[in-house]
Order: sequence, then C-alpha cells, then structure tokens
Amino acid sequence: MKLCSIQECGKKLYARGLCRTHYNRQWQKGRLSAWRAKNPEKAKAHRRTAYLAHRDEQQQKSKVWYDAHSEWVSVRSHWYYIFGKNPLAAYRGMPFCRGWNPKHLGGSWEAGAKWILDHIGPRPDKNYD
Ligand SMILES: [Zn+2]
Repeated sequence: MKLCSIQECGKKLYARGLCRTHYNRQWQKGRLSAWRAKNPEKAKAHRRTAYLAHRDEQQQKSKVWYDAHSEWVSVRSHWYYIFGKNPLAAYRGMPFCRGWNPKHLGGSWEAGAKWILDHIGPRPDKNYD
C-alpha cells in the first residue's frame, strides 16, 4: 500500500501522493496564494493589520532571541560587513572562515556561532564591566 509522501506522515494515500489531511492542506494553500495573487492590495493590507496587531510581542520575541544568540548575530553581522550589499570599507578583503560562510558548501553562520561558543565561550552579559 502506498502512503502519504509527506515525511513521517505515513497515512493512507488519498490524492496526488498525499493523504487526505495533507491534500486538503495543499489545496487550501493553493487557494490562498491564488487569492493573494488576484488581490495584492488586500493581501498587503491584511499583512499590515496582522503585523500591527502583533508588532510588540514580535519585537519582544526577536529581542529575546537575538540576546540569546548574540554569537550568531555577530558572525552574521561580520559576514554582511564583508560580503553584503554595502560592505564596510574597513572590512574590505578581511578573511572570513569558509566553514562559517553560507556561500560555501556546508558553511553556515550557525557553525561560526558554535565555534565561538566552544572555543571562546558565551559573550559576557551587557552589565559586564
Ligand atoms: Zn499526510
């Protein structure tokens, strides 16, 4: 018996290689993106409303995440200083570890953050003197 092609779903096949749940989900997604394509202004207004309704909690969430991942943020910032759209003159030609460079196969900012944590340790908190 063939099963749903969504990973770890394993339910009985319904249509187009999917179980009933996932088929319905895909269909709804398709309807939504079709509506968005047809009503770009309305879609934009919806996104704006949702953004404003949840702005403060989103900003708070981001702040908490950034504070907890300051090594990752630091690796990413330096990548942008060197390779970004508007590179900083002082950083021109500065070497950047290949393993930390997402432009190289297998490279990632995550790897850089992990290296920093393993070899240097976490950044001291803001009140560190
Ligand atoms: Zn499924």
